[in-house]
Amino acid sequence: MVDGGAEPSVNQSAATEEMPIPRLSLVPNNEDVSSDSYDDPKLVYSSVVLRSLEKYLPPEILEMNRKEKVKYMSDILRKYISPEDCNKAEMRKNYMENIISSYEPRYRGWYNFDPKLFLLPSFLEAISVNTEASFGRIISQPYPSVFVFQMFQPDFFEKLIVEAETFRNWAQEKNYRIRRPNNTSNYGVVLDDFGLSIMLNKLMQDFIFPLCKVFFHELRGTMFDSHYGFFDEYGDGRDAELGSHIDDSEITLNVCLKKQLVGGEIVFGGTRCIKHLRTKYKAEELFHYTHIPGQAILHRGRHRHSAEATTAPRYRANMILYCRSSLFREMETYQKDFFSDVCGQCVQETRFKESQFLDARREEMIRIEDGANTR
Ligand SMILES: [Zn+2]
Repeated sequence: MVDGGAEPSVNQSAATEEMPIPRLSLVPNNEDVSSDSYDDPKLVYSSVVLRSLEKYLPPEILEMNRKEKVKYMSDILRKYISPEDCNKAEMRKNYMENIISSYEPRYRGWYNFDPKLFLLPSFLEAISVNTEASFGRIISQPYPSVFVFQMFQPDFFEKLIVEAETFRNWAQEKNYRIRRPNNTSNYGVVLDDFGLSIMLNKLMQDFIFPLCKVFFHELRGTMFDSHYGFFDEYGDGRDAELGSHIDDSEITLNVCLKKQLVGGEIVFGGTRCIKHLRTKYKAEELFHYTHIPGQAILHRGRHRHSAEATTAPRYRANMILYCRSSLFREMETYQKDFFSDVCGQCVQETRFKESQFLDARREEMIRIEDGANTR
């Protein structure tokens, strides 16, 4: 009702359909506000995104229970993600729920990540000290931006192989069509799909990120916010080796679980920014590395790589973890030259321009000098 006037007209449909718009606070909540745990594979959005957003929830929402807060934050996030992507995420969620509700893991207790059971004491020590010097004691860098180290207990490899095989056999027996790590894979399994998502997320956040923060400056110290982990077997009666490719990751952790073959080196062929993905590698960028069982390799997703053909008999099993940062991708979209100091093609082009500039300056100096001498 408006004073002294007629009843204002109301758009009925707007009044009934319009819901309050979920909003965030402009300033983050106090540091001491304890965050709920969002490490739940059934959630569409990653725990890192939800935890970050939770800091900005209005006080009245912050007091609500976890389920209500997830709904509130999901309503906000949905505005930034296309309906197609939302549908895909929903379908993936249902797919994973179906598997988790009927697949009986071989090592159920193992799904709760226990670093002391999984990781080597030397690796744990280096991470807890958390300095470049402590990492330097366990890591070597055979080629720029390719880091190799030992991090897992041998028991981890054996259990991972058995668990992946158990899952694959379960899918076969049930005639259940599972997704494969990539289009060419017929034997690989996605580790996140049968409940290992929380374990992989912890591995990425607590143990891989500290290394990346020190060794990959382009991440600007920003935490990864999603991952993709898979297991694959290559060789006779298994998948064919992949040709030269890049990964859909900022950083990739590649762990060799088992290997019985001669040759089969990993061949690295240059890092590229988004605009130079198709440019050829240069001879000086080519680097061959023999991956030994038990060893982890950490490299940029955009560092092109392939596995060399081997001589029979051959077999290798690897666990791959793609570590992703949406912030990195945003930055690369909007900030020109964001990745250019690590792209081999950009570096070469910059050097060429600099040498052209210096040559032009030199010629100019000579002309000035000659002019002075002839006067
Ligand atoms: Zn480039």
